[in-house]
Amino acid sequence: MTKTDSFSLKFNDGWKYDPAPESIDHISIAEQYGLFINGEFVNSEGSKYFKTINPSNGDTLSKISEANKKDVDKAVDAAKAAFKSWSKMDPSDRAKYIFRIARMIQERAREFAVIESLDGGKPIRESRDIDIPLAAAHFFYYAGWADKLEYAFPGKNTKPIGVAAQIIPWNFPLLMAAWKIAPALACGNTVVLKPAETTPLTALKLAEIIKDSGLPKGVVNIVTGAGKTGSYLVEHPDVDKIAFTGSTEVGKLIRRATAETNKKLTLELGGKAANIIFEDAPIDQAIEGIINGIFFNQGHVCCAGSRLLVQESVLDEVSKKLKARLESLIVGDPLDKNTDVGAINSEAQLEKINSYIQVGKKEGLEMFQSNSKVPSKGFFCKPTLFFNVAQSSRLAKEEIFGPVLAIQSFRTVDEAIEKANNTPYGLSAGVWTDKGSKAFNMSSKLKAGVIWANTYNKFDPTSPFGGYKESGFGREGGVHGLKEYLILENQEG
Ligand code: NAP
Ligand code: MG
Repeated sequence: MTKTDSFSLKFNDGWKYDPAPESIDHISIAEQYGLFINGEFVNSEGSKYFKTINPSNGDTLSKISEANKKDVDKAVDAAKAAFKSWSKMDPSDRAKYIFRIARMIQERAREFAVIESLDGGKPIRESRDIDIPLAAAHFFYYAGWADKLEYAFPGKNTKPIGVAAQIIPWNFPLLMAAWKIAPALACGNTVVLKPAETTPLTALKLAEIIKDSGLPKGVVNIVTGAGKTGSYLVEHPDVDKIAFTGSTEVGKLIRRATAETNKKLTLELGGKAANIIFEDAPIDQAIEGIINGIFFNQGHVCCAGSRLLVQESVLDEVSKKLKARLESLIVGDPLDKNTDVGAINSEAQLEKINSYIQVGKKEGLEMFQSNSKVPSKGFFCKPTLFFNVAQSSRLAKEEIFGPVLAIQSFRTVDEAIEKANNTPYGLSAGVWTDKGSKAFNMSSKLKAGVIWANTYNKFDPTSPFGGYKESGFGREGGVHGLKEYLILENQEG
């Protein structure tokens, strides 16, 4: 028995964590929410509501308004009217509002973290340490740019585009709202945002902050609802720009719907990233990177490292260590501070993930799941590994958006590149190696928008993010993210 084996055995045998739940007595969730239009919470014209639930136990958290076409018209009208003065406001005054929103998110961070975990199922450690601080950081970062756009684009005149319709998914609800709203406002645009049906609460809480911040009425409007509400926004003639994050399927629909219009469009879509481990990599660190790459946020991450490519010479070692590490992952209550893997966001998503697990079983692949218990109530899925997955397998080709890792091997650098690029997606990739030259060589040949070297799933507001191929186009974050919300004209003379 090696030293590592004896350590992991002892570690797993002797320990049990007591529950360490985050308290919920400091949060308030209303029984029912209206739409946030023109600076006020208003009832929907159709008076229709849907429930948002806690996916870890099925409890209803609140009733949410379903915006119909008339509501969307009202929200777009409000944004259009507000654009007249917001776009002309002194940019340093615009910045003050955005800074204020950033500070208010920080002040209410604990409340936001708990609500994010309740509504979406992600572990409290992640919402507390990643989602909420990063959302505030995006507002801070773009507030800083508001009065410096001429330095971002020297020789150009910068003009805001107009009304931006922003449609976001359920995996990082507040963070995606921040990625979209902060740069749009900094550039002088106004916004109508539609959060995802299963996770509307933190966007509605953000609406409270926006109201309290004194942001002029109509600059940000938030309409809740399902896909239909999103399609009203997409089709609205007074929308000048659409920023969409979601599935490639809906991205294609939106591309078609806007084909003969003047609407500007950015699409942040799905992914099937390769996380590549070379034999010279620091293996123990790489194991942590693999775990973080695929099990962060239950694998509901567009840039998840869902295809693991391991150099053949270290495949046995990596496989063994991965299995041992899986045994120590705690799957359970998202509000427990010990939890590593929380609840799957919805029943439909759990069904989708389980159907992929069946695909792997039918293909006769070696599957590994830990012995850890998962709660009997709510939507949970054990972290799952599939070994020796063929390039042609659906597990290697399709986005699962869950805690399922497809493991493959390679022998040479060229084979790794070929396998990694053999996908219709191109959002992200990871490379683990001791050699800087190898990391640079790989990053120039991998067709992906973001490439991490010896780390994974690292995000920063200063760094652009976006895809190639079916992962979409346009960038969010950094100076690149500003460009998507501006009309740039050459200066004369
Ligand atoms: P989705 O079904 O495409 O939904 C995304 C958003 O679009 C939701 O708000 C959804 O409303 C709305 N929507 C649905 N149909 C629409 C339509 N016909 N017109 C306009 N809007 C419509 O995606 P999802 O399942 O929520 O999210 C998972 C996907 O997002 C994954 O594929 C993932 O890779 C991708 N994603 C990409 C990034 C990135 O930056 N590239 C980041 C995160 C996630 P409902 O919620 O009511 O359905
Ligand atoms: Mg929910």
